[in-house]
Amino acid sequence: MALCPFCKLYISTKESGKNYKGKKYHPQCFEKMLDDIESGDDDQKELNDYICKLFNIKTITPLMSSQIQSFTDTKGYTLKGIHGSLYYFFNIEGNEIGEDIKGIGIVPFVYDDAKDFFESIKKAKETNSKFKNMPKTSNVKIKRPDTSVNKIDISKI
Ligand SMILES: [Zn+2]
Repeated sequence: MALCPFCKLYISTKESGKNYKGKKYHPQCFEKMLDDIESGDDDQKELNDYICKLFNIKTITPLMSSQIQSFTDTKGYTLKGIHGSLYYFFNIEGNEIGEDIKGIGIVPFVYDDAKDFFESIKKAKETNSKFKNMPKTSNVKIKRPDTSVNKIDISKI
């Protein structure tokens, strides 16, 4: 049986898990992770709150705010992307905050992986909602491709 990396519970063989890079998640857990990142409207506040919770501090340190500043200014990262990277590294990959970690310098190392990860959740979510909205019975007519339109008469060129 597979262990869902998000909720740390087993996925029964009857359940269809969501696969991502060799790991299996509960479908609802998979979508929950995206909701955690996209819950609020105020990206700056969401990010600050998340960092404070993560590091168990009251306000983000000057080092952290200068790191955020430089990520957004020089690397073009979004606040949501930085939030997602930290979430990916600590909550999903399960890395722990050590005493020696004073900032969020990990972000550039995981930004692309995190982006791929959240994009794949987004895609899975869209596919799911499409299926949900589909009528139970439908006649799908497959149209024969119209080949006459693109046919070019070479002799007339
Ligand atoms: Zn789960």
